[in-house]
Amino acid sequence: MFEKILIANRGEIALRVQRACRELGIKTVAVHSEADREAKYVQLADESVCIGPAPSGQSYLNIPAVISAAEVTDAEAIHPGYGFLSENADFAERVEQSGFVFIGPRAETIRLMGDKVSAKEAMRKAGVPCVPGSEGALGDDPEETLREAKRIGYPVIIKAAGGGGGRGMRVVHTEAALLASVNMTKAEAQSAFGNPMVYMEKFLEQPRHIEIQVLSDQHGNAVYLGERDCSMQRRHQKVLEEAPAPGISTRLRDKIGARCADACRRINYRGAGTFEFLYENDEFYFIEMNTRVQVEHPVTEMITGIDIVQEQIRIAAGEKLSFRQRDIEFKGHAIECRINAEDPYTFVPSPGRITTFHMPGGPGVRVDTHAYQNYMVPPHYDSMIGKLITHGATREQAIAKMRIALSEMAVEGIKTNVALHRDLLADAAFHLGGTSIHYLEQKLGLNSK
Ligand code: ADP
Repeated sequence: MFEKILIANRGEIALRVQRACRELGIKTVAVHSEADREAKYVQLADESVCIGPAPSGQSYLNIPAVISAAEVTDAEAIHPGYGFLSENADFAERVEQSGFVFIGPRAETIRLMGDKVSAKEAMRKAGVPCVPGSEGALGDDPEETLREAKRIGYPVIIKAAGGGGGRGMRVVHTEAALLASVNMTKAEAQSAFGNPMVYMEKFLEQPRHIEIQVLSDQHGNAVYLGERDCSMQRRHQKVLEEAPAPGISTRLRDKIGARCADACRRINYRGAGTFEFLYENDEFYFIEMNTRVQVEHPVTEMITGIDIVQEQIRIAAGEKLSFRQRDIEFKGHAIECRINAEDPYTFVPSPGRITTFHMPGGPGVRVDTHAYQNYMVPPHYDSMIGKLITHGATREQAIAKMRIALSEMAVEGIKTNVALHRDLLADAAFHLGGTSIHYLEQKLGLNSK
């Protein structure tokens, strides 16, 4: 096992990784920007290194600065968290070339999955069901593009191979609009991602977002840890997640889960990962793979009892998975509310000093946050200040615990989206379960596809 790990991230996930390391008896190095110097998790780390000024381009995304910090502190491995450099194949490569272990998949795997065209191709070959669409990227022949769309059937969605964060996508309803939309998406993809390649998919009208968590070691063992339903979204940003997904049968879960685990073995996947699917009419359609730990990983931890971050570290250290698929049991139901420093209805970020910070507690309540009373939420980064997770024997119990927890929670000095979560937890359609990815925007009266 490693003696010292550098955590190349900030906020709640930096603290989450730090806790996993401490439990495993591993020393931690926090890297931070000038804006995060005073943060408590930085002070709690065994060592800390300032890697640059507040803007993330000069600090958390500064590859040479992160690697130098690992060198001066003699860290053996680097955990990238989520966001920032976590899915940057060049970073993973530089980390390993510099003699450190990257806690995540090999650079070539990140590269394969980072290009959505090659990811879909690899998954199709591995027997994972994909959204019907073009074979690879669209070529330059307009007649061919028109034929492809006709074959797939309108509406279609044009997506950038290098896209991410919900950007670089355009829905097309009619043949008349197709070629202009393809050209516009190509131009946008070129300027936003430096890669003009686009591909075409059937546009699913009312899908749910359901994803499968996997763990895969370096000895050919891979397991799935069930699914999460992340359909409550706004502008493709997840707001509330739960596990298991309401209404998905054990048979269906096991079938898709086994396919994902099998795909991991085939591509020699290393570490934790997530297969994201759109789900409609009892069918799963792969859209992309995330090659890192996800924000919503706690709901899976709550129903499986498995510490996903510790497993990432063990796998990176070369250990074998200590359990097999049949050892994994899914117990009860878990829900996560992302707590953001923002206006609950306009979603405008609300950085600033937290004057009151009272967190809920009790059985089945988990709070993952780096914030505290008097903490200054910096304006430079993502607005998420923490996650509230509840676990109950049934979905109803998890909901009841969440409603109580949200009623106890008090954060003042900044605006938060707690009021939105209280509304959602009282929503009739949410109670029924199984709402589509458009539900939240429709409820909020926002214009949704
Ligand atoms: P990103 O990497 O930018 O998040 P994804 O491929 O994961 O891109 O897609 C993001 C979101 O776009 C999905 O969660 C879904 O809401 C919508 N989307 C993507 N592909 C389709 C599709 N074929 N049909 C309907 N909606 C889609």
